[in-house]
Amino acid sequence: MSALLKQTIDKTYPVVTHGQGVYLYDSAGRQYLDGCSGAMTANIGHGVEEVAEAMKDQAGRVAFTYRTQFTNAPAEDLARRLTAMAPGDLDWAFFVNSGSEASEFAIRSAVGYWRERGVPGKFKVLGRNISYHGMTMGALSMSGHAARRPDYGPLLHAFSFAPPAYAYRFAQPGENEEDYALRAARAFEEAIRNEDPGTVAAVIVEPIVGAAGGVLTPPAGYLSRLREICDRLNVLLIIDEVITGIGRTGDWFASSYENVVPDLLLMGKGLSAGYSPVAGVLLRSHIVDALREGSGVAPFGHTFSGNPLGAATCLAVLDFMERRNILANVRQRGEQLEEGLLSLATRYRCMADVRGRGLLWGFEFVMDQESKQAPDPSLGTANTFVQECLAQGLIVYPAGIAPLNNAVILSPPLVINEEETRVLLAKLEKAVCAMERHVE
Ligand code: PLP
Repeated sequence: MSALLKQTIDKTYPVVTHGQGVYLYDSAGRQYLDGCSGAMTANIGHGVEEVAEAMKDQAGRVAFTYRTQFTNAPAEDLARRLTAMAPGDLDWAFFVNSGSEASEFAIRSAVGYWRERGVPGKFKVLGRNISYHGMTMGALSMSGHAARRPDYGPLLHAFSFAPPAYAYRFAQPGENEEDYALRAARAFEEAIRNEDPGTVAAVIVEPIVGAAGGVLTPPAGYLSRLREICDRLNVLLIIDEVITGIGRTGDWFASSYENVVPDLLLMGKGLSAGYSPVAGVLLRSHIVDALREGSGVAPFGHTFSGNPLGAATCLAVLDFMERRNILANVRQRGEQLEEGLLSLATRYRCMADVRGRGLLWGFEFVMDQESKQAPDPSLGTANTFVQECLAQGLIVYPAGIAPLNNAVILSPPLVINEEETRVLLAKLEKAVCAMERHVE
């Protein structure tokens, strides 16, 4: 009997025993190259001794304090460090335990903001098709991910969705990147107008779509257009950097790529790099000012919000990243990975639309590159590929839009070195080669 639920009922999994750097090991002595950092999470790799030491040290002093009774030095330091790293006046931080809770916090803060400003009619949050913001009911309500919303319809908020920004499938023939960015942003504006901006509190987007689409990078200029549209229509912009934040794309935050400052920025996964369940939200000053000048009540928080052990863990992760200049490594290894993936796509006709930034890459399987036709959904392409990679001792993350599920995510730990990247690409090639037969 497994200790886990649902996914494990019909399936057995290897028992992991330990990890070191980009590698994991199981009880049968097998080695796995972690090509996706678990779920884009184990960003500094496994078994980092200095993080374990920092956790032990903090736990020995004080592991838990409650946020309405005390603050603590690690949580305050972490808030200071993150707000200094973030763009613009994202000057406030709040900590939760998961990306889903960060999404919930964002909904409540956005709606609360307008209520405090005397505009209670602005209560809707607009999501985007092909997106994922978490499994809790509010987060799921904003997620344009049909496969993860089955049967919950009546329990979800009736939020609407704007069209995606996904050039490979939705740009028109001959349309250049700039024109597509403009058209996709206009479609977003239209979706807000259809809802009546007077009722919309906020919109939420991932700067690069992760699990829902298999790394969808928007066309250049799209994100900054969304910022401009939100300002013009008086709607808050929430950017979900749960995957992209804390260095994954080669900047601390992917929003910086287009100099966009969201009103609320969500982080998770890489914030603690998997060493402790911590997520967070950064808020611009005007959001906090509205509370301060309004009711003065901040009705947020969970038992473990801002606990010293979690915060000390995140600080140790940031120390590690800064000391080793991890952002530079992300850019260098990202170029190597991109080059390797593009080269594979020239040699294997089933591999299409290599897309990504830094160390967050995806591609999708097609019958052939000319027709762009996705393989039959019954083939379960992404999962088949995961198995082919596993046979090579490589872990990758299955993704793509249901029911096609024909995309894959590559997001190795940000510490991966040149030789390990070469090994990853060699294993990947063997698995892609096997896929040519599956999708015939
Ligand atoms: N937001 C994004 C972009 C995610 O990819 C995820 C999880 O994959 C979440 C939010 C939810 O995070 P969690 O699983 O920690 O609740």
